[in-house]
Amino acid sequence: MSETVLELAGIAKSYLRGRPGEVQVLKGLDLRIAAGEVVALVAPSGGGKSTLLHVAGLLDTPDAGEIAIAGRPVAGLSDRARTEIRRRRVGFVYQFHHLLPEFTALENVVLPQRANGVARREAEARARRLLGEVGIAPRADHRPAALSGGEQQRVAFCRALANAPELLLADEPTGNLDPETAEQVFEVLMRLVRQTGLAALVATHNMDLAARMDRTLRLVGGRVEPG
Ligand code: ADP
Ligand code: MG
Repeated sequence: MSETVLELAGIAKSYLRGRPGEVQVLKGLDLRIAAGEVVALVAPSGGGKSTLLHVAGLLDTPDAGEIAIAGRPVAGLSDRARTEIRRRRVGFVYQFHHLLPEFTALENVVLPQRANGVARREAEARARRLLGEVGIAPRADHRPAALSGGEQQRVAFCRALANAPELLLADEPTGNLDPETAEQVFEVLMRLVRQTGLAALVATHNMDLAARMDRTLRLVGGRVEPG
């Protein structure tokens, strides 16, 4: 049995808690993801996929429940310690690339490493290697606006992996791409995950893509069940 990278137990999350219009999104959700697996998180729009990914990635706090990342329970940690875990152990990819527009592709992959104290030379070497692996090396010095949607998303993956996280959280990473480009980006995602052995949780409502991941979790009624 592989090492557990993400463990959620009894996670509850509402918006507008205790107020009119309260929305209970997660209702005692449990899940466990091991190193090396790519898990599809499937639900219709509004089903709570983004909420779950934000909570799992420590971008938002649950109302109840326990989170452990790479075997470290998060409960009771200071904001600073949570930020540290997020920065070093978790990579995010969103539907829209969210790259910094005024920086080149290379710089977008260098900056998160610099924030973690990696020396510039080393950060640039790693960024060039990552960009090379996804076929973007010739475009490393271009800004995001000069790249196609598929290229932007491939750079976003490199940025997410810049600090060699144990966990990748991807929120509909191909949702904004045409089918052919989505296919290429998906192949890049799978290859990078296989190479690095990290754990990935990938929100999607594309059942074809979900079927090609290692397993599917369906988010239904605020909890997950095997899909
Ligand atoms: P998905 O990513 O699957 O589309 P979300 O996690 O974004 O689902 O949303 C789940 C539910 O929570 C939806 O009903 C949405 O309207 C609601 N929601 C999300 N964010 C907020 C917020 N900041 N305030 C109030 N309701 C929200
Ligand atoms: Mg969403």
